[in-house]
Amino acid sequence: MTRKRFENKVAVITGAASGIGAATARLLAREGAHVVLADVNDNGGKSIAADLGPTAMAVKCDVSSAAEVEALVKAAVERHGRIDILFNNAGIGSFGTSVEIQPAEWERVIAIDLHSVYYACHFAIPHMPRGSAIVNTASISGLGGDYRFAAYNAAKGAVVNYTRALAVDHGRDGIRVNALCPGLVETPITAGVQQMPGLREDWLKRIPMERAAQPEEMASVVAFLASDDASYVTGTIMVADGGRTAHTGQPEVAQFALPP
Ligand code: NAD
Repeated sequence: MTRKRFENKVAVITGAASGIGAATARLLAREGAHVVLADVNDNGGKSIAADLGPTAMAVKCDVSSAAEVEALVKAAVERHGRIDILFNNAGIGSFGTSVEIQPAEWERVIAIDLHSVYYACHFAIPHMPRGSAIVNTASISGLGGDYRFAAYNAAKGAVVNYTRALAVDHGRDGIRVNALCPGLVETPITAGVQQMPGLREDWLKRIPMERAAQPEEMASVVAFLASDDASYVTGTIMVADGGRTAHTGQPEVAQFALPP
């Protein structure tokens, strides 16, 4: 029997037209939530909303715009009266060292990956009752540095610590706030790089579980954090990376040192 952890809960999900956001929208809706799917990709959001039934709605929203995020919150509250779950998930990647990356690109990444989380919390929290939950998608790239990923590392690192600040400020309001740090997940954001010759193998070699995750494997973690199953969990940075960050990165010395 399917559990119904989110019966009549109102869930606003950004970046809901694809990947982790779409998988989470589907899971929460299956467990009874009224889902508000926000994305710049309006057609994608609308087609998923149509699949999820009459209580789901799609709102076109560029999360890097404070005005558009305010309008998103207003639309959700006008329709449902409150927000019980806020999943701040929209995000983009960007390549470059601090020298290579141009100021406009830096600002775009920080706006989409970080400012968006503040905008959504700023406008939504006043409409979130006690017992509500916020989940922010950070990344294992928010826990350490990657080569030529400076803006993304900066934004996701800030999302990690901002999550703790939110948890501290709003614990007394009965609002829990946690972050998800995915490792490699098979979604459109990683599809291009995964197809580069040799890169996929090199990437998988560094992951103890030797595989990428499916978006549904992130959705189930988000659902846990958003549900009453996690009723005493706040300010947690939940890593779901197949063991990637548990590994020191050192080679398997025994393979060379011990007789076969
Ligand atoms: P995805 O590309 O499948 O989904 C991202 C969604 O965000 C898309 O639907 C896109 O249209 C939307 N989006 C982009 N810019 C937006 C904007 N300005 N306003 C509103 N929506 C916007 O990628 P995904 O892998 O599902 O990514 C979801 C989150 O997970 C991102 O924050 C990403 O940084 C993070 N993440 C992904 C991975 C991975 O390996 N896939 C790893 C770590 C973290």
